[in-house]
Amino acid sequence: MITIKSKREIELLTIAGNIVYKTHKYLLPYIKEGIKTNELDKLAEDFIRSQGATPSFKGYEGFPTALCISVNSEVVHGFPSNRVLKNGDIVSIDIGACYKGYHGDSAWTYAVGEISDDKKYLLEHTEKSLFIGLEQVKPGNRVGDIGYAIETYAKEHKLGVIKELCGHGVGTDVHEDPEVPNYGLKNTGPRLKEGMVIAVEPMLTLGSPRIYVHDNNWTVDTEDGRPSAHFEHTVVVTADGYKILTGE
Ligand code: MG
Ligand code: MG
Repeated sequence: MITIKSKREIELLTIAGNIVYKTHKYLLPYIKEGIKTNELDKLAEDFIRSQGATPSFKGYEGFPTALCISVNSEVVHGFPSNRVLKNGDIVSIDIGACYKGYHGDSAWTYAVGEISDDKKYLLEHTEKSLFIGLEQVKPGNRVGDIGYAIETYAKEHKLGVIKELCGHGVGTDVHEDPEVPNYGLKNTGPRLKEGMVIAVEPMLTLGSPRIYVHDNNWTVDTEDGRPSAHFEHTVVVTADGYKILTGE
């Protein structure tokens, strides 16, 4: 069921989203060669709790940690660990925070030190594809318009679109209806209405979009080992477009 959020709910979702945004900003100076991914997780969890929120993902369907941290070819749902980030890595950090029962969800892929030109290209155009998708978010448009825009942009830039994973509604559950795929056809899918809150989150690859899941039953990785990137914002549909909740 797709819900329309009340003004009060949107206020709480705005606070939750802002905590997610601030957590990304807080982590930024620490995302450097030499740090372990579980150190980033600890920093983020402490920060989220200091804001009066709880990490949305910890315990979600058994997920063990506050953050999903996915390095290089890992797409999503990487487990923070003793892995040390190296110069040239790209690291996708997916953060969820729950404030008074309402969630915010935002992922960003960061460069660690100096990265290769092809990784720069991947990051630049995956981020761009998020905003290309968001341009379609307005009342009257349909969910398929978002996916169509992202897929078209990705294809124009010779990037692979992962189809097994998608965006979603956000509210009292971190994953609500509707599903928001990163591919699709124009004028298909549920119609967007003012007051809906959705996360749009393209996951693109430099190579094939084929994926597999690690033995931990969570971490999604590219089959060919080529890098992938993930950019996500939670937004509310407004009268004439959208407003980012996981931004400033
Ligand atoms: Mg996320
Ligand atoms: Mg999400």
